[in-house]
Amino acid sequence: MSDCIFCKIIEGHIPSRKVHEDDRVVAFWDAHPASPIHILIVPKNHIPTLNDIPENDQILAHVGAVAKTVARQFGVDQSGYRLFVNVNRGGGQMVFHLHAHLVAGNDLGTLFIKAAIACAILWRKLVGLVVKNRVSR
Ligand code: AMP
Ligand code: ZN
Repeated sequence: MSDCIFCKIIEGHIPSRKVHEDDRVVAFWDAHPASPIHILIVPKNHIPTLNDIPENDQILAHVGAVAKTVARQFGVDQSGYRLFVNVNRGGGQMVFHLHAHLVAGNDLGTLFIKAAIACAILWRKLVGLVVKNRVSR
């Protein structure tokens, strides 16, 4: 597809930070990473959305296998990662060439939020105890 940005990347007309390539897919860094690790896994065939995958086409299985390889490459296969496909505008799809997002590395953010919640709960308990002590005196 001549006006498709991912086709242009696949054909080498637009640069990308590739992390994997084989006969059916390329995987490269998302230009605007939403996580410390954000890789797009993109079939080489121009298929606009997940709805357009031909019957019996095993491309999603291959994308899954490549995700496993890429996750291992970045050392997150055991710690964990998220793999998702946006479908059509309502599903958040902006580039109409099928691709899967592999995101990982947000653990620190989650840990910070969990720690903040734990502190807030502890604080409320402490304040509750102080108030109870004063009332019972
Ligand atoms: P989606 O919303 O699922 O269609 O995701 C499209 C993704 O492609 C977005 O996360 C964009 O940041 C990313 N993107 C757009 N243009 C480029 C590009 N030239 N190189 C790498 N990623 C891109
Ligand atoms: Zn395309």
